[in-house]
Amino acid sequence: MPLVVQKYGGSSLADADSIKRVARRIVDTRKAGNQVCVVVSAMGDTTDELLDLADAVSPAPPERELDMLLTAGERMSMALVSMAIANLGDSARSFTGSQAGVITDDVHGKARIIDVTPGRITEALGAGHIVIVAGFQGVSQNTKEITTLGRGGSDTTAVALAAALNADVCEIYTDVDGIFTADPRIVPTARKVDRIANEEMQEMAASGAKVLMLRCVEYARRFNLPIHVRSSFSHREGTWVYQPQGEDDDVEAPIIAGVAHDRSEAKITVVGVDDSPGQAASIFKAIAEGGINIDMIVQNVSAVSTGKTDVSFTLPKTDGQRGVQVLQAIKDQLGFESVQYDDQIGKLSLVGSGMRSNPGVSATLFQALADNGINIEMISTSEIRVSVVTKDDQLDDAVRAVHTAFGLDSSDGEAVVYGGTGR
Ligand code: ADP
Ligand code: ASP
Ligand code: MG
Repeated sequence: MPLVVQKYGGSSLADADSIKRVARRIVDTRKAGNQVCVVVSAMGDTTDELLDLADAVSPAPPERELDMLLTAGERMSMALVSMAIANLGDSARSFTGSQAGVITDDVHGKARIIDVTPGRITEALGAGHIVIVAGFQGVSQNTKEITTLGRGGSDTTAVALAAALNADVCEIYTDVDGIFTADPRIVPTARKVDRIANEEMQEMAASGAKVLMLRCVEYARRFNLPIHVRSSFSHREGTWVYQPQGEDDDVEAPIIAGVAHDRSEAKITVVGVDDSPGQAASIFKAIAEGGINIDMIVQNVSAVSTGKTDVSFTLPKTDGQRGVQVLQAIKDQLGFESVQYDDQIGKLSLVGSGMRSNPGVSATLFQALADNGINIEMISTSEIRVSVVTKDDQLDDAVRAVHTAFGLDSSDGEAVVYGGTGR
């Protein structure tokens, strides 16, 4: 019997009616002659609401307790979906991440899956049950504590289980019809793509396209597992994230896969840094010791008269205050003038493997921004991506302008966003 792994995101499970609708879909898949293992996220914006609650009782909650709290969201969903299936006359068994054998490292809030031992799942499937697993969570191999995988982590749970169970299909159900050339909430003329190479999706996810979590795409690539991203609100064929098998498989691919955007970063500028060896090393050593991951870095040429320069970099907004504190602490030792913090920024990224062999992509991108009066604050590139930082309030316009400039607009109607709040 074929084995299907399905994942339903929070927007597909927002309320009781949605849960009943999802249960019906799951039962239909089972009746079509499949074994079904389902991964569920927390209902609607539950995870954000739990984070708000934690914040209301403590500005810096202990990581262990925060993970205990957040995993409750997915446990609610798994039990409710199981009940709704039972009500349709089929039998389902729900399992927490730990019961499902999702073993992680011991980093609370962004744990990595290091092993999956799905004995109980295989057993339950073998006994004829539909299996429902709470996504986004696992148990640490060392500490035995409950961990969470980071925002959007249920996507990774689904891919990890699909790989461990050797599933025939891994379907990620969400509130849009698949992967688009840009976020349809911002670009209504975004076009759904039938397939996207894993490498490109990885870059899109890393650049903020939250339709799939980055780790999930990395995991699928490592295990050579195709993913089908589709809507739980329609029966349309979605988007296949695939691994090109040899160069010929890629020849039809467009030059540009899409435009991603990200509002989760802030910018720190260290002003008046001595232009001498070792300064950048000291700055970024302090940041690294603070446990902060940075993204883009820009260092200006030094002013001839002063021999001083400015160094800017971006980091997650959630680490912003800590980043400033870490730098203030070494200000006198390094002798720079000041630290500036700006969280009103946004990042636009243009992604496409065709960039490798097509000159002029950056020029077209910068021209589109210039024509729309959008100033670029920072630039970074990889082999298949160009990213720019703009002012936050210009980001949506920038995304639309670039999308149009690269001829990505769809000619057959607006993209449908079926649910979700975009939070
Ligand atoms: P779920 O609750 O199902 O996990 P998410 O909110 O995490 O859903 O992800 C789906 C959302 O991702 C869509 O509603 C859309 O706003 C956003 N998104 C961002 N970029 C893209 C893209 N390129 N294609 C499709 N959706 C995108
Ligand atoms: N509920 C978690 C989140 O909101 C995990 C997920 O939805 O995938 O990030
Ligand atoms: Mg998600």
